[in-house]
Amino acid sequence: MEFDPSKIKVLYSQKKLDEMVGRVAKQIEDYYKPMTNEITAICVLKGSIHFYSDLLKKINLNVRYNFVHVSSYSGEASTGKIKVKTWVDESLFDQYVLVVEDIVDTGTTLRYIMNYIKKQKPKDLKLATMFDKKAFDHKVEVNFAGAELENHFVVGYGLDYDQLYRNLPYVGYLDNE
Ligand code: 5GP
Repeated sequence: MEFDPSKIKVLYSQKKLDEMVGRVAKQIEDYYKPMTNEITAICVLKGSIHFYSDLLKKINLNVRYNFVHVSSYSGEASTGKIKVKTWVDESLFDQYVLVVEDIVDTGTTLRYIMNYIKKQKPKDLKLATMFDKKAFDHKVEVNFAGAELENHFVVGYGLDYDQLYRNLPYVGYLDNE
C-alpha cells in the first residue's frame, strides 16, 4: 500500500493522548504504591518510546529504565519471526517489572518478551500497553491499557510506517475514502 501522510486521519490528538497517559499512570501508581516505591520499567522499542517517556514522567515512584528491541514487522505486516536486537542490561531478579508496549496486536512479540522476562524471576511482572487491538484473540494478559483500537494500522506518537511518522505528535490512520 502507498502511504500518503496527507491522508492521515487523527484518531488520538495530543490532548487525548495526554489524558490517556495520565489515566494509565494513575492506575500504575495506585497498583505499585502499597507494595514498593521502586520499579523497573522496560520500554519495548521503538514504538513505545513516547508513551514510555511521557508515562514515567507522570509516575511518582523510583523507576529504573531499561530497554528491549525485538522486531517481527515489515511494513504493515507481521512476519511472525522474532528477532532480538537489544535485551535488558540489568538483572530483573526480584524486581517489580513493568513492560511498556505500544500495541498488542497478534501478541506474538509480547508473548516472547514476557516469557523471556519470567525466566529471569522478577518478583512481579506486569504489562502496560498504549493500545490493545482486539482483532486477534491474542491471549496476552494486559494489566494496564490506554485504549482498545479498531483494526486500523495506526502511525504517530512512536508508531511507524516503514520507520517513518514516529514523530507525529498524534496517533492517526490512513483514510483511503
Ligand atoms: P504483535 O506481535 O502483537 O502482532 O505486534 C506488536 C507490534 O507490532 C507492536 O508493538 C507494533 O510495533 C507493531 N504494530 C501492530 N499494530 C500496529 C499498527 O497499527 N501500527 C504500527 N505502526 N505498528 C503496529
